[in-house]
Amino acid sequence: MSWRFYCVRCGFRGDVGVYYHRCPVCGGALGVDGVLPSFPRVLGEGSTPLVFDGVGGSIVGFKLEYLNPSGSFKDRGVSYSLQFARGLGYRCVVVDSSGNTGLSTAVYASRLGLRAHIVVPATASPGKLSLMRAVGANVVVVESRGEASRVAESYAGECFHVAHLTSPVFIEGVKSLGYEIAEYSRRATVIVPVSSGSLLVGLYRGSLEAGVKPRIIAVQASGSPSLEGLVDLLAYVGGPDSRLADALVVRNPPRLEEMARIVRESGGGVVKVGDEAIRVALRELLSMGFIVEPSSAVAWAAYRALEGKIGEAIVILTGSGLKYYRELEEISRA
Ligand SMILES: [Zn+2]
Repeated sequence: MSWRFYCVRCGFRGDVGVYYHRCPVCGGALGVDGVLPSFPRVLGEGSTPLVFDGVGGSIVGFKLEYLNPSGSFKDRGVSYSLQFARGLGYRCVVVDSSGNTGLSTAVYASRLGLRAHIVVPATASPGKLSLMRAVGANVVVVESRGEASRVAESYAGECFHVAHLTSPVFIEGVKSLGYEIAEYSRRATVIVPVSSGSLLVGLYRGSLEAGVKPRIIAVQASGSPSLEGLVDLLAYVGGPDSRLADALVVRNPPRLEEMARIVRESGGGVVKVGDEAIRVALRELLSMGFIVEPSSAVAWAAYRALEGKIGEAIVILTGSGLKYYRELEEISRA
């Protein structure tokens, strides 16, 4: 094992070859020294289509991350994380997530022969819980997000904690996205929905490894812990409310500083998007044939807000609308 973790905040250094899901001293996000292992694809995750369209005289590439096996880009990080876990001898995995990461973990654990414990708040959508159970996960329902996080911690140690907010392993898997768009991101601005930052950080690191430093525009749901003040605010559209972008709400993203540094370094900025603009963007995407979840529509809303100012763009469509089949009609018509 030629790698060891360190804390990006307090300087903690882990033992060589030992996995920590977050800093054991301060709870912060971790980086890695050395080289992490490579793993093959498991269910065909990644290599998603890049579909081009001419919009208002500019070329837009839509990266269809929602076509991954469990319907979101999370499959890249989860596939990698769970193979990593298996390599370290773990027999079970745990994650606290009511949404895409939870379902992805359930799917890949089942495929890889690992027991999955998914700890979810009671507010989680019944459809998603049903899918997680259907593929064989142990779904633990608790009162709140905070409690979900605490209960997941109680499994960590015995089980591998996916911890996509703080673990560098998850990000390692997301890097493949940066490679895949490198040919186009040399000249096109990349528009990325942002919550915990695993997508933004993974995409950027992968791009750098592929020899490209893309311009990145981070898109946050209005009301989310803010990149404003840390990077240029390029647009604020659709009102202050962002109830619809539920997959993007992370209260204290541990990688906020790192996200801000990347956006600044890339010459990009942040766009904030509220529900009104999410609805319009979702309707447009659906009419173009892209069946995505509301949280993914923020990227398109951001493109619309900046249209004519940024030239060619790649819009990352992160999550599938098929998990929202009950809600999509109502949301897009409201
Ligand atoms: Zn620390």
